[in-house]
Order: sequence, then structure tokens, then C-alpha cells
Amino acid sequence: MVYCSKCGKKNPDDAQYCDKCGVKLITESQLEKNIDDFGEEIEQIGKKIVKTVEDATSSSKSTDGKPKKLYRSGKDKIIAGVCGGLAEHFDVDPLLVRVIAIVLLVGSLGFMMLAYLLLWVIIPRNPEHNW
Ligand SMILES: [Zn+2]
Repeated sequence: MVYCSKCGKKNPDDAQYCDKCGVKLITESQLEKNIDDFGEEIEQIGKKIVKTVEDATSSSKSTDGKPKKLYRSGKDKIIAGVCGGLAEHFDVDPLLVRVIAIVLLVGSLGFMMLAYLLLWVIIPRNPEHNW
């Protein structure tokens, strides 16, 4: 049996469209494959983000020649200080980082939300700030 994702009606296994509402049916095996693909995609994106952060952290040096560490900002934070920390690290306006983050969030249909959560976990708090 294949259950219609829209109306919940049971359709025969070989049915391609729901005979009640006409919506395209997804069989269980197709659904599992889709979820697998999605999980893989998320993993790839996660790896890419980690690499980007690592590259950004290692390539950016402060004036005294020591590598500048990427921290979440405790001074300039709205949610977790990720945008503020990135702005401090790259010496740009935090507002600009937030605007870009919001544009990406809307444009990526939630993938950016995942990116934010990942950055939240990856980047440590700036120990020089009050938390
Ligand atoms: Zn249906």
C-alpha cells in the first residue's frame, strides 16, 4: 500500500497518482532514498562549512602576526554571537554580516539556519567578553 501524502488515502503499490486527490505518490522506498540523499547532502554542507571556517581561521592573521582566533562575540550578539564574532574576526560591520546571513537564510530555504547552528557549536565563546 502507498499512502497519499496529501489526503492519506491508501493506494495500490503500483499507483503513481492518488486516485482520490490526484497528487503524485511517493512509495516508501523512494521516501527512504530521499531521506538518505538529504542526510548526505546535509553532511556535505556541514563539511564544507567546517572547511570554510577552518580556512578563514587559519588564513586570517592579526597585526602581531599571530593567527587570529575566531570567536563568537559576547559584546555584539543577538542570538549566539556568531554574526558579531564573524564581523569582529573579519573586521567588518556586524550589520553587514547579519544582512548577508538573513539573505542567505531566505535564499537557501533554511540551510543557512543549519549553518548558523553548526557555527554556534563549532566557534567557541570569546573568553575576553562577558557571557
Ligand atoms: Zn490523495
